[in-house]
Amino acid sequence: MPLNACELEIDLFCRGLRVPEDVPLDGARHVSRTRAGLGSGLEVVIPTGSKLKPEIWTNVPVVERFAKRSPYRLAGGPDAGYEIVNDRDRSTYPVKLPAQPEWYSRLTSRDVPMNRIGVMQGTYLGIYVNPVCAFWSYSPPLNCRFCTTGQNVGSNEEPVKAISDVVETCRTAKEESGVTFVHLNGGFQGSRGLEFIKPYVSAIKESVGLLVGVQLAPERDFTHYDELVSLGVDHLSFCVELGDRRWFERVCPGKARAHGQNLYFSAMAYCSDLLPYGAVSGEIIAGLEPLESTLATIDRILDAGAFPTVCIFRPTAGSDLENWPSPDYAEMRTVMEYVYEACRSRWMPIGAAPNLEVSLVVTPDDSALLAERTAAFYGYEAFRRAARLLARPWFAARMRSRS
Ligand code: SF4
Repeated sequence: MPLNACELEIDLFCRGLRVPEDVPLDGARHVSRTRAGLGSGLEVVIPTGSKLKPEIWTNVPVVERFAKRSPYRLAGGPDAGYEIVNDRDRSTYPVKLPAQPEWYSRLTSRDVPMNRIGVMQGTYLGIYVNPVCAFWSYSPPLNCRFCTTGQNVGSNEEPVKAISDVVETCRTAKEESGVTFVHLNGGFQGSRGLEFIKPYVSAIKESVGLLVGVQLAPERDFTHYDELVSLGVDHLSFCVELGDRRWFERVCPGKARAHGQNLYFSAMAYCSDLLPYGAVSGEIIAGLEPLESTLATIDRILDAGAFPTVCIFRPTAGSDLENWPSPDYAEMRTVMEYVYEACRSRWMPIGAAPNLEVSLVVTPDDSALLAERTAAFYGYEAFRRAARLLARPWFAARMRSRS
């Protein structure tokens, strides 16, 4: 039986996609290895045929070893249109490949190509703002084992981003690609990370007017979060990655030594009190630790007042875990179905922000397509639609530049 769009998204994350050499990718977004390397795949848009969510944006692994053995293959071309063929049963799925933004190669006034400042991940702009994450400079390194930030920042993107370059790139992405949200991240910077990022938040809010998300290692002085909120930050996220303590210590040695898991949940809870419900998230990786730990961590994130962002583990080429197996589809489907149900039971207003499609993860919003059609489902969907409509003027005000 053919998969629905969310099931296909999950299976593509688990199995990857082959791109035969004779399939032209003219005009499509190039595979870009920036930030942690999670976006190192091909950006693909899957029409869903559902009013709930007309399309799903996804970043499909294509360069990793497991993707070379994928039953899925890309076919077609820019003129006739693309489709994904499942060679197991010959089923086909029409897809679109989003265009490479014309502004990627444009220079900032300091002569830096804009795609060395930020890249599109789905419909939002992602910028790694801080210097390279400090976990990479320990000896031996304490980097998270799935991450390739230490290889990307400084080679595939600028080592340090000037505020003026960031502002110009944000403004261009807003004007030409309709971006509504910029996500700033920067790994671990000791106690200086949040201080470092504040002028960027201020400048973007002041001169561009975008929704701004910040994702940095948690710091023990929570008053920094009050300051970020007063500067206008709209979203804060915390990457706790794994719920099981032993897996956390094994996969994230730096985070285990510098922070410990509890700090992530305390920071989530603190920030959830500062920002509107649904504006804080906890990020985890599914497919490494046992399934029960992943499900329990989803609940723990929601209990802290945040929403769960669940990445399907990608054995990214060049990372310490590049030879690990990619996750099992059936397990990942269970996780994503659980995410939706857990959000539903807490009335989390997922998917309320305008034009925000995230390609690196199966969003709670995408996973609505997995849910059973019960009265509770329709009640929650009606609530989400109302939340989206009611929040429109609020988001519009937040996206006006202050100057
Ligand atoms: S904290 Fe971990 S995932 Fe984040 S940039 Fe550093 S090594 Fe990579």
